[in-house]
Amino acid sequence: MNFSSDNASGASPKVLEALIAANEGPATPYGADPWTAGAEIAVSNLFERDCAVFLVPTGTAANALALAALTPPWGTIFCHHDAHVMDDECGAPEFFTAGAKLVGLPGARGKIAPDMLRAALRAYPRGLVKQTQPAALSITQASESGTLYSIDEIAALADLAHASGVRVHMDGARFANAIVALGATPAQMTWKTGVDVLSFGASKNGTLFCEAVVFFDPARAIDFAYRRKRAGHTMSKGRYLGAQMGAYLADGHWLELATRANAMARRLARGLAGLPGARIPHGCEANEVFAILPRVAEAALKTAGARYYDWGVRGLEDVDSLSPDEIQLRLVSSFATTIEEVDAFIATAAGALA
Ligand SMILES: *Cc1c(COP(=O)(O)O)cnc(C)c1O
Repeated sequence: MNFSSDNASGASPKVLEALIAANEGPATPYGADPWTAGAEIAVSNLFERDCAVFLVPTGTAANALALAALTPPWGTIFCHHDAHVMDDECGAPEFFTAGAKLVGLPGARGKIAPDMLRAALRAYPRGLVKQTQPAALSITQASESGTLYSIDEIAALADLAHASGVRVHMDGARFANAIVALGATPAQMTWKTGVDVLSFGASKNGTLFCEAVVFFDPARAIDFAYRRKRAGHTMSKGRYLGAQMGAYLADGHWLELATRANAMARRLARGLAGLPGARIPHGCEANEVFAILPRVAEAALKTAGARYYDWGVRGLEDVDSLSPDEIQLRLVSSFATTIEEVDAFIATAAGALA
Protein backbone atom coordinates (compact mmCIF):
# COMPACT_ATOMS: atom_id res chain seq x y z
CA MET A 1 0.00 0.00 0.00
CA ASN A 2 2.33 2.69 -1.22
CA PHE A 3 0.59 6.01 -1.81
CA SER A 4 3.57 8.19 -0.89
CA SER A 5 3.99 9.55 -4.40
CA ASP A 6 3.61 8.58 -8.03
CA ASN A 7 7.39 8.60 -8.34
CA ALA A 8 7.61 5.78 -5.81
CA SER A 9 6.61 3.56 -8.74
CA GLY A 10 9.12 2.18 -11.19
CA ALA A 11 9.09 2.79 -14.92
CA SER A 12 6.64 1.37 -17.41
CA PRO A 13 7.91 -1.91 -18.90
CA LYS A 14 7.42 -0.46 -22.42
CA VAL A 15 9.81 2.38 -21.55
CA LEU A 16 12.37 -0.10 -20.23
CA GLU A 17 12.06 -2.22 -23.39
CA ALA A 18 12.70 0.88 -25.47
CA LEU A 19 15.88 1.54 -23.50
CA ILE A 20 17.14 -1.98 -24.21
CA ALA A 21 16.31 -1.54 -27.89
CA ALA A 22 18.19 1.79 -27.97
CA ASN A 23 21.24 0.10 -26.48
CA GLU A 24 22.40 -1.32 -29.82
CA GLY A 25 25.39 0.15 -31.63
CA PRO A 26 26.83 3.67 -31.55
CA ALA A 27 24.85 6.92 -31.58
CA THR A 28 25.89 10.55 -31.75
CA PRO A 29 26.02 11.93 -28.18
CA TYR A 30 24.41 15.01 -26.57
CA GLY A 31 20.98 14.54 -28.08
CA ALA A 32 21.99 14.54 -31.74
CA ASP A 33 20.64 11.00 -32.12
CA PRO A 34 17.61 9.61 -33.97
CA TRP A 35 15.72 8.69 -30.76
CA THR A 36 15.87 12.28 -29.51
CA ALA A 37 14.91 13.65 -32.92
CA GLY A 38 11.96 11.25 -33.03
CA ALA A 39 10.84 12.25 -29.54
CA GLU A 40 11.02 15.94 -30.43
CA ILE A 41 8.85 15.34 -33.48
CA ALA A 42 6.42 13.25 -31.41
CA VAL A 43 6.05 16.10 -28.90
CA SER A 44 5.42 18.62 -31.68
CA ASN A 45 2.84 16.30 -33.23
CA LEU A 46 1.16 15.86 -29.89
CA PHE A 47 0.82 19.63 -29.47
CA GLU A 48 -0.20 20.14 -33.14
CA ARG A 49 2.49 22.75 -33.61
CA ASP A 50 6.22 23.13 -34.28
CA CYS A 51 7.64 23.32 -30.78
CA ALA A 52 11.18 23.67 -29.51
CA VAL A 53 11.60 20.58 -27.30
CA PHE A 54 14.39 19.91 -24.80
CA LEU A 55 14.63 16.67 -22.87
CA VAL A 56 15.96 16.81 -19.31
CA PRO A 57 16.16 14.17 -16.57
CA THR A 58 14.29 15.96 -13.76
CA GLY A 59 11.26 18.14 -13.28
CA THR A 60 13.23 20.56 -11.17
CA ALA A 61 15.61 21.11 -14.09
CA ALA A 62 12.67 21.53 -16.47
CA ASN A 63 10.96 24.10 -14.25
CA ALA A 64 14.03 26.07 -13.24
CA LEU A 65 15.47 26.24 -16.75
CA ALA A 66 12.11 27.06 -18.33
CA LEU A 67 11.59 29.90 -15.88
CA ALA A 68 15.14 31.11 -16.47
CA ALA A 69 14.27 31.46 -20.15
CA LEU A 70 11.32 33.72 -19.25
CA THR A 71 12.77 36.13 -16.74
CA PRO A 72 15.79 38.37 -16.26
CA PRO A 73 17.60 38.10 -12.88
CA TRP A 74 15.60 41.13 -11.73
CA GLY A 75 12.27 39.58 -12.69
CA THR A 76 9.30 38.50 -10.61
CA ILE A 77 7.85 35.00 -10.98
CA PHE A 78 4.31 34.67 -9.67
CA CYS A 79 3.20 31.23 -8.50
CA HIS A 80 0.89 29.62 -5.95
CA HIS A 81 2.37 29.76 -2.45
CA ASP A 82 2.28 25.95 -2.28
CA ALA A 83 3.92 25.54 -5.72
CA HIS A 84 6.66 22.99 -6.24
CA VAL A 85 8.89 25.75 -7.68
CA MET A 86 8.43 27.64 -4.41
CA ASP A 87 8.73 24.87 -1.83
CA ASP A 88 10.29 21.75 -3.27
CA GLU A 89 13.18 22.67 -5.55
CA CYS A 90 15.82 23.84 -3.09
CA GLY A 91 16.00 27.27 -4.69
CA ALA A 92 16.74 25.95 -8.20
CA PRO A 93 14.44 28.52 -9.86
CA GLU A 94 16.16 31.35 -7.99
CA PHE A 95 19.57 29.86 -8.80
CA PHE A 96 19.06 29.22 -12.51
CA THR A 97 17.35 32.56 -13.07
CA ALA A 98 20.37 34.17 -11.37
CA GLY A 99 18.21 35.60 -8.61
CA ALA A 100 14.68 36.25 -9.85
CA LYS A 101 12.11 36.66 -7.07
CA LEU A 102 9.36 34.12 -6.54
CA VAL A 103 6.14 35.60 -5.20
CA GLY A 104 3.71 33.05 -3.76
CA LEU A 105 0.03 33.81 -4.21
CA PRO A 106 -2.87 32.42 -2.20
CA GLY A 107 -5.78 30.58 -3.74
CA ALA A 108 -8.15 27.88 -2.62
CA ARG A 109 -7.50 24.22 -3.47
CA GLY A 110 -4.00 24.85 -4.81
CA LYS A 111 -5.11 27.18 -7.58
CA ILE A 112 -4.22 30.84 -8.07
CA ALA A 113 -7.36 32.97 -8.03
CA PRO A 114 -7.48 35.64 -10.80
CA ASP A 115 -8.10 38.36 -8.19
CA MET A 116 -4.92 37.39 -6.40
CA LEU A 117 -2.92 37.58 -9.62
CA ARG A 118 -4.52 40.92 -10.44
CA ALA A 119 -3.53 42.29 -7.02
CA ALA A 120 0.00 40.91 -7.34
CA LEU A 121 0.47 42.51 -10.75
CA ARG A 122 -0.61 45.81 -9.21
CA ALA A 123 1.83 45.31 -6.33
CA TYR A 124 4.70 44.68 -8.79
CA PRO A 125 4.27 47.43 -11.39
CA ARG A 126 6.61 47.67 -14.34
CA GLY A 127 9.16 50.43 -14.11
CA LEU A 128 9.38 50.80 -10.35
CA VAL A 129 13.13 50.59 -9.96
CA LYS A 130 13.12 49.48 -6.34
CA GLN A 131 11.18 46.29 -7.19
CA THR A 132 11.73 43.22 -9.31
CA GLN A 133 9.93 43.44 -12.65
CA PRO A 134 6.91 41.31 -13.58
CA ALA A 135 8.20 38.52 -15.82
CA ALA A 136 6.55 35.12 -15.44
CA LEU A 137 3.52 33.33 -14.06
CA SER A 138 3.92 29.65 -13.18
CA ILE A 139 0.81 27.51 -12.77
CA THR A 140 0.80 23.83 -11.85
CA GLN A 141 -1.52 21.43 -13.70
CA ALA A 142 -2.60 19.22 -11.94
CA SER A 143 -2.03 21.44 -8.90
CA GLU A 144 -0.22 20.64 -5.67
CA SER A 145 -3.66 20.03 -4.12
CA GLY A 146 -4.52 17.50 -6.84
CA THR A 147 -7.03 19.88 -8.42
CA LEU A 148 -7.32 21.02 -12.01
CA TYR A 149 -7.54 24.41 -13.62
CA SER A 150 -10.30 24.32 -16.23
CA ILE A 151 -9.41 25.53 -19.71
CA ASP A 152 -11.30 28.77 -18.97
CA GLU A 153 -9.43 29.26 -15.69
CA ILE A 154 -6.07 28.87 -17.44
CA ALA A 155 -7.18 31.33 -20.12
CA ALA A 156 -8.29 33.89 -17.53
CA LEU A 157 -4.92 33.79 -15.73
CA ALA A 158 -2.95 33.80 -18.99
CA ASP A 159 -4.91 36.80 -20.30
CA LEU A 160 -4.17 38.76 -17.15
CA ALA A 161 -0.50 37.82 -17.32
CA HIS A 162 -0.10 38.64 -21.00
CA ALA A 163 -1.85 41.99 -20.57
CA SER A 164 1.01 42.90 -18.21
CA GLY A 165 3.72 41.48 -20.47
CA VAL A 166 4.13 38.44 -18.21
CA ARG A 167 4.86 35.05 -19.82
CA VAL A 168 3.06 31.91 -18.72
CA HIS A 169 4.80 28.72 -17.61
CA MET A 170 2.94 25.52 -16.80
CA ASP A 171 4.45 22.99 -14.41
CA GLY A 172 3.03 19.82 -15.91
CA ALA A 173 4.60 17.24 -13.62
CA ARG A 174 1.15 15.58 -13.74
CA PHE A 175 0.20 16.83 -17.21
CA ALA A 176 -1.02 13.41 -18.39
CA ASN A 177 -3.30 13.00 -15.39
CA ALA A 178 -4.80 16.42 -16.09
CA ILE A 179 -5.31 15.72 -19.80
CA VAL A 180 -7.08 12.45 -19.12
CA ALA A 181 -9.26 13.98 -16.40
CA LEU A 182 -10.24 17.09 -18.37
CA GLY A 183 -10.68 15.32 -21.67
CA ALA A 184 -8.87 18.24 -23.30
CA THR A 185 -6.23 18.05 -26.01
CA PRO A 186 -2.63 18.96 -25.12
CA ALA A 187 -2.93 21.97 -27.46
CA GLN A 188 -6.13 23.18 -25.79
CA MET A 189 -4.62 22.96 -22.32
CA THR A 190 -1.48 24.89 -23.31
CA TRP A 191 -0.71 27.25 -26.21
CA LYS A 192 -4.29 27.63 -27.41
CA THR A 193 -5.11 28.89 -23.92
CA GLY A 194 -2.04 31.09 -23.48
CA VAL A 195 0.68 28.88 -22.02
CA ASP A 196 4.07 29.94 -23.42
CA VAL A 197 6.35 27.25 -21.98
CA LEU A 198 5.51 23.85 -20.51
CA SER A 199 7.41 21.51 -18.22
CA PHE A 200 6.02 18.32 -19.71
CA GLY A 201 6.37 15.81 -16.90
CA ALA A 202 6.69 12.12 -17.64
CA SER A 203 8.74 10.53 -14.84
CA LYS A 204 5.81 10.36 -12.41
CA ASN A 205 3.72 8.68 -15.09
CA GLY A 206 6.08 5.99 -16.37
CA THR A 207 9.43 7.14 -17.74
CA LEU A 208 12.58 6.23 -15.84
CA PHE A 209 13.83 9.83 -15.74
CA CYS A 210 12.76 12.02 -18.60
CA GLU A 211 10.80 15.26 -18.83
CA ALA A 212 10.57 17.80 -21.64
CA VAL A 213 10.70 21.57 -21.71
CA VAL A 214 8.36 22.61 -24.51
CA PHE A 215 8.47 26.09 -26.02
CA PHE A 216 5.39 26.83 -28.13
CA ASP A 217 7.25 29.73 -29.74
CA PRO A 218 10.64 28.31 -30.80
CA ALA A 219 12.05 31.86 -31.03
CA ARG A 220 11.91 32.02 -27.26
CA ALA A 221 14.17 28.96 -27.02
CA ILE A 222 17.13 30.41 -28.85
CA ASP A 223 19.49 30.25 -25.86
CA PHE A 224 18.03 27.21 -24.21
CA ALA A 225 20.55 24.66 -25.47
CA TYR A 226 23.33 26.65 -23.76
CA ARG A 227 21.28 27.12 -20.63
CA ARG A 228 20.67 23.39 -20.33
CA LYS A 229 24.30 22.45 -21.00
CA ARG A 230 25.62 25.08 -18.59
CA ALA A 231 23.31 23.64 -15.94
CA GLY A 232 24.75 20.16 -16.44
CA HIS A 233 21.49 18.77 -17.77
CA THR A 234 22.57 17.86 -21.30
CA MET A 235 22.99 14.10 -21.15
CA SER A 236 25.97 12.79 -23.08
CA LYS A 237 24.10 9.57 -23.91
CA GLY A 238 21.04 11.54 -24.89
CA ARG A 239 19.56 8.65 -26.84
CA TYR A 240 18.30 7.17 -23.58
CA LEU A 241 16.18 10.24 -22.92
CA GLY A 242 14.85 10.18 -26.48
CA ALA A 243 14.04 6.49 -26.25
CA GLN A 244 12.10 7.01 -23.02
CA MET A 245 10.00 9.87 -24.35
CA GLY A 246 9.43 8.09 -27.67
CA ALA A 247 8.06 4.97 -25.97
CA TYR A 248 6.06 7.02 -23.48
CA LEU A 249 4.18 8.83 -26.26
CA ALA A 250 3.92 5.97 -28.78
CA ASP A 251 0.39 4.68 -29.38
CA GLY A 252 -1.09 6.76 -26.58
CA HIS A 253 0.83 4.81 -23.92
CA TRP A 254 1.14 7.92 -21.71
CA LEU A 255 -2.65 8.29 -21.69
CA GLU A 256 -3.18 4.62 -20.81
CA LEU A 257 -0.84 5.00 -17.86
CA ALA A 258 -2.54 8.16 -16.57
CA THR A 259 -6.01 6.68 -17.06
CA ARG A 260 -5.02 3.84 -14.77
CA ALA A 261 -3.56 6.19 -12.15
CA ASN A 262 -6.63 8.42 -12.14
CA ALA A 263 -9.02 5.48 -11.88
CA MET A 264 -7.17 4.17 -8.82
CA ALA A 265 -7.35 7.58 -7.14
CA ARG A 266 -11.08 7.83 -7.82
CA ARG A 267 -11.64 4.38 -6.36
CA LEU A 268 -9.62 5.33 -3.28
CA ALA A 269 -11.45 8.65 -2.83
CA ARG A 270 -14.85 7.02 -3.22
CA GLY A 271 -14.02 4.30 -0.70
CA LEU A 272 -12.59 6.67 1.90
CA ALA A 273 -15.39 9.22 1.50
CA GLY A 274 -17.85 6.53 2.59
CA LEU A 275 -16.13 5.95 5.95
CA PRO A 276 -17.52 7.51 9.13
CA GLY A 277 -15.59 10.64 10.08
CA ALA A 278 -13.60 10.78 6.82
CA ARG A 279 -13.51 13.81 4.54
CA ILE A 280 -12.00 14.47 1.12
CA PRO A 281 -11.64 18.28 1.13
CA HIS A 282 -10.71 18.81 -2.53
CA GLY A 283 -12.55 15.89 -4.07
CA CYS A 284 -10.54 13.76 -6.50
CA GLU A 285 -9.81 15.40 -9.84
CA ALA A 286 -6.67 13.63 -11.05
CA ASN A 287 -4.41 11.09 -9.29
CA GLU A 288 -4.09 12.60 -5.82
CA VAL A 289 -6.41 12.25 -2.85
CA PHE A 290 -6.15 14.46 0.20
CA ALA A 291 -8.00 12.62 2.92
CA ILE A 292 -8.84 13.85 6.39
CA LEU A 293 -9.18 10.77 8.59
CA PRO A 294 -9.72 10.17 12.30
CA ARG A 295 -6.31 9.48 13.88
CA VAL A 296 -7.40 5.98 14.91
CA ALA A 297 -7.75 5.07 11.25
CA GLU A 298 -4.34 6.52 10.46
CA ALA A 299 -2.78 4.56 13.31
CA ALA A 300 -4.18 1.33 11.86
CA LEU A 301 -2.88 2.23 8.40
CA LYS A 302 0.58 2.93 9.76
CA THR A 303 0.60 -0.37 11.66
CA ALA A 304 -0.41 -2.16 8.47
CA GLY A 305 2.62 -0.64 6.72
CA ALA A 306 0.76 1.74 4.43
CA ARG A 307 2.87 4.60 3.01
CA TYR A 308 1.67 8.19 2.55
CA TYR A 309 2.54 11.68 3.72
CA ASP A 310 1.11 13.49 6.72
CA TRP A 311 0.12 16.71 4.95
CA GLY A 312 -0.46 18.82 8.05
CA VAL A 313 -2.87 21.64 7.28
CA ARG A 314 -1.41 22.39 3.84
CA GLY A 315 -3.96 23.23 1.19
CA LEU A 316 -6.86 23.42 3.62
CA GLU A 317 -8.98 26.53 3.27
CA ASP A 318 -10.02 26.55 6.89
CA VAL A 319 -7.01 25.21 8.76
CA ASP A 320 -8.93 25.31 12.04
CA SER A 321 -11.34 22.73 10.68
CA LEU A 322 -8.71 20.02 11.27
CA SER A 323 -9.44 18.85 14.81
CA PRO A 324 -6.72 17.41 17.05
CA ASP A 325 -8.05 13.88 16.56
CA GLU A 326 -7.89 14.16 12.78
CA ILE A 327 -4.98 14.00 10.33
CA GLN A 328 -4.71 15.00 6.68
CA LEU A 329 -2.98 12.48 4.44
CA ARG A 330 -1.74 12.96 0.92
CA LEU A 331 -2.36 9.81 -1.12
CA VAL A 332 -1.04 9.54 -4.66
CA SER A 333 -1.73 6.76 -7.13
CA SER A 334 0.24 5.86 -10.23
CA PHE A 335 0.00 3.62 -13.28
CA ALA A 336 1.41 0.84 -11.07
CA THR A 337 -1.17 1.13 -8.29
CA THR A 338 -3.33 -1.99 -8.00
CA ILE A 339 -6.98 -2.38 -7.08
CA GLU A 340 -5.84 -4.71 -4.28
CA GLU A 341 -3.69 -1.98 -2.72
CA VAL A 342 -6.52 0.52 -2.91
CA ASP A 343 -9.07 -1.86 -1.44
CA ALA A 344 -6.72 -3.00 1.33
CA PHE A 345 -6.12 0.63 2.30
CA ILE A 346 -9.84 1.36 2.48
CA ALA A 347 -10.54 -1.85 4.38
CA THR A 348 -7.80 -1.13 6.93
CA ALA A 349 -9.17 2.34 7.61
CA ALA A 350 -12.72 0.98 7.72
CA GLY A 351 -11.71 -1.71 10.21
CA ALA A 352 -10.37 0.89 12.63
CA LEU A 353 -13.55 2.96 12.39
CA ALA A 354 -16.05 0.11 12.75
C1 LIG B 1 7.34 15.91 -8.85
C2 LIG B 1 7.08 17.30 -9.25
C3 LIG B 1 8.01 18.03 -10.02
C4 LIG B 1 9.32 17.45 -10.49
O1 LIG B 1 10.19 17.11 -9.52
P1 LIG B 1 11.56 16.33 -9.70
O2 LIG B 1 11.64 15.55 -8.45
O3 LIG B 1 12.61 17.34 -9.81
O4 LIG B 1 11.50 15.49 -10.92
C5 LIG B 1 7.67 19.30 -10.41
N1 LIG B 1 6.50 19.86 -10.07
C6 LIG B 1 5.58 19.19 -9.34
C7 LIG B 1 4.27 19.84 -9.05
C8 LIG B 1 5.85 17.91 -8.89
O5 LIG B 1 4.93 17.26 -8.17
